[in-house]
Amino acid sequence: HEASKVPTRLLFYESSMSSEITEKLMLENDLHHALDNQELFVEYQPQINLQTGYITSVEALVRWRHPEKGLISPGVFIPIAEESGLIIPIGQWILETACKQVKQWQRAGLPSIKVAVNLSLGQLFQYDLVRMIQDVLQRTELESQYLQLEITESMTINIDHMTTMLHQLKDLGVTIAVDDFGTGYSSLSYLKDFPIDCLKIDRSFIHRIQTDSTDKALVDMILSMAKHLRLKVVAEGIEEVEQLSYLIASHCETVQGYLFSKPLLPIFLQENYDSIQRNAQNILEKLNVVE
Ligand code: C2E
Ligand code: MG
Ligand code: MG
Ligand code: MG
Repeated sequence: HEASKVPTRLLFYESSMSSEITEKLMLENDLHHALDNQELFVEYQPQINLQTGYITSVEALVRWRHPEKGLISPGVFIPIAEESGLIIPIGQWILETACKQVKQWQRAGLPSIKVAVNLSLGQLFQYDLVRMIQDVLQRTELESQYLQLEITESMTINIDHMTTMLHQLKDLGVTIAVDDFGTGYSSLSYLKDFPIDCLKIDRSFIHRIQTDSTDKALVDMILSMAKHLRLKVVAEGIEEVEQLSYLIASHCETVQGYLFSKPLLPIFLQENYDSIQRNAQNILEKLNVVE
């Protein structure tokens, strides 16, 4: 009996492994058609300035509506896009969609806001990335000052390449933010070389900011470092008023999180722009920030 248990467990292990791989291969196969079939779309999450309650920018976040499997999150399919090389066409489509959208909002008379677009590692090794971005800005007629590119610390593996690339991007007039700052186990020395404008404090630090003294210390450290380096800061994942009041007391400039708004479809954001801002101002008024 003892002996018969082992193969069963092995079999179970193997079959669950292979079904995971099969699942991934099927998704990759489907992802090849997702762009052509118009299954990808972009949502936009507002970033709120804490002094005014105004929306200053939005982050573009891609989604995949799979015909059978329903909504698939970017946490699942972006890595598949990376491994398969599909990130190149998909990344370009996201960038173009986001720039077009923000330009359209400008034309519709909304206040001019920035759009932050996530870049992934594979894109940074795309030989014509800078040209591609320049072309997209030209085609969409979006002024480059309204585009922010988000990179992560995992992209600091090749400092020389990144330094050159980021300077070329900066020459276009776009700004650069470091996403998920503090989660990448990388040396901070890249902050000396990279022309960075903004740090985004990861949601994992914000989560227990009121109760965990380590998280509190880390957030304080990031804010003070940003101040000394003259970088802007966006705190991500603000869900509760208590988190917000801590960030206000610590002079954080901008926040993004469900407390103010989830990522929204463009039409919904456009139609509710004023009420999102009014709601933000109400929340801030109660904390005695906005008069
Ligand atoms: P990220 O760039 O750090 O994006 C922030 C994530 O936090 C988004 O998840 C957003 O919906 C979520 N979020 C924002 N506020 C809150 C909050 O208050 N509470 C909670 N629980 N979550 C919040 P999402 O859209 O699922 O994206 C996950 C990750 O997938 C992104 O993390 C980014 O790394 C990647 N991603 C998303 N869109 C794109 C894209 O267009 N291109 C690339 N390359 N990566 C993308
Ligand atoms: Mg991001
Ligand atoms: Mg992030
Ligand atoms: Mg992330």
